Amino acid sequence: MSCKHCHVNAGPGGKAIMPREVFEECLRVLDSTSIPVVDITGGAPELNPHFLWFVKEVRRRGLHIIDRCNLTVLHETGQEGLPEFLAENEVEVIASLTGLSEQQTDAQRGQGAFSKSIEALNRLNDVGYAQPGRGLELHLITNPSGAFLPANQESMEQHWKEVLLDRFDIIFNRLYTLTNMPIGRYLSWLRAKDLLSPYMKKLYDSFNPDAARGVMCLFTLSVDWQGYLYDCDFNQMLDLKVNHGLPTHIKDFNHEAFRGSIIETGAHCYGCTAGSGSSCGGATA
Ligand code: SF4
Repeated sequence: MSCKHCHVNAGPGGKAIMPREVFEECLRVLDSTSIPVVDITGGAPELNPHFLWFVKEVRRRGLHIIDRCNLTVLHETGQEGLPEFLAENEVEVIASLTGLSEQQTDAQRGQGAFSKSIEALNRLNDVGYAQPGRGLELHLITNPSGAFLPANQESMEQHWKEVLLDRFDIIFNRLYTLTNMPIGRYLSWLRAKDLLSPYMKKLYDSFNPDAARGVMCLFTLSVDWQGYLYDCDFNQMLDLKVNHGLPTHIKDFNHEAFRGSIIETGAHCYGCTAGSGSSCGGATA
């Protein structure tokens, strides 16, 4: 897939593959801190040759792990056992799905993306995801298909639950809505459509201080494929490494240095703080 809204410009031609040494540095940091959650994203992180090993290592340490999954990866050769593996290792899955319309999803994500995603969700349900009492969380994540803010997360979640159950027999736990960030492929799309100025104005005009209190840079640290550190995934895309004297590489990580540290910000941050807010867990206010 090579989605039009992708802020990290991910796609089949991607060459950024985290090497084992960087995973090992991450494990070293986990062993020396009380960080409780590892959140893995891509591209398609499941395609990394060290993915299965790393998930097992994190689980062996008793930590919670999240896989941000594009769903269609379940159809790739060699990924046949992925749903069972994720379930056995109690990996929380946050799966991206553009919308409930096949036409709209395929337009944004590529031909066949919708039907493959539906099939993948059925498979995740079949191995226990979102089934009551199983403890296997399956959340969906979506973002608007144009230059506007997401609709109300709770009402969308209710609607999606009804439609996906009714049409495809799919269940899931929560729906997370994300605001499109004015970076990466989405920024190019805004420019091409001459929508950058009105979109940025919409973000500025919708600034919500309550939403700012829940942004992910306040409680996460982003590690890129080479081991460099960022306050968030969006800063990673803009190559805005952690700053203000902080160690910029995982091999030099020092937990104390990051306590109360100053976050690198820019105009793109208005994407996280507009309206109901937007972060790795959806709306923040
Ligand atoms: S884009 Fe800005 S506000 Fe959003 S998480 Fe990153 S640093 Fe924080």
